[in-house]
Amino acid sequence: MNIATVVHRLRWSLLRIEERLLQAAGLDRQLVPALAVNGPGLLPQPPNEDEQPPGFLDSILWMAVPKKRRTIEVNRTRRRAKEKLLKVQTNIEPCPECGHLKQKHILCGFCYAKVCKETTLIRQQIIATEGGPLRAPATETVLIYEGETPRETDKDKRIVELPRKRPAWFSS
Ligand SMILES: [Zn+2]
Repeated sequence: MNIATVVHRLRWSLLRIEERLLQAAGLDRQLVPALAVNGPGLLPQPPNEDEQPPGFLDSILWMAVPKKRRTIEVNRTRRRAKEKLLKVQTNIEPCPECGHLKQKHILCGFCYAKVCKETTLIRQQIIATEGGPLRAPATETVLIYEGETPRETDKDKRIVELPRKRPAWFSS
């Protein structure tokens, strides 16, 4: 609380005491016109209440808005323009492996998911037999499915045996 506030409150309390005294004496109804002079700014003035503190609307970036409403016909003409229609795809062909439709320059999604699933199973088998993916010997890996026997040339390689039939799409 600074001294200006103290002086301001003192002034108001003095004015109120004066008003009460005038009321008690019955003189408040018999006031006569007096000369009102705007004195020098010795006394601090109360803050002007017309000045609002900066609100949140001051920080908004106001954007341009349309002046006229566009009719639904104009809007539909724009939305259904020829340039916005889907293009006809001519680069679609059936997958030679599974027969699903796919784009010509892109891998077949069904075959890719199939390979991913089989790879996950092979990794799980490797972890189960070797105890972890980081203990692999630095040799070539051969996958042996159920009912298969390793060749003579695969004797020195790392052999992973899988207890199920080889998938039809997975060539040995
Ligand atoms: Zn496919």
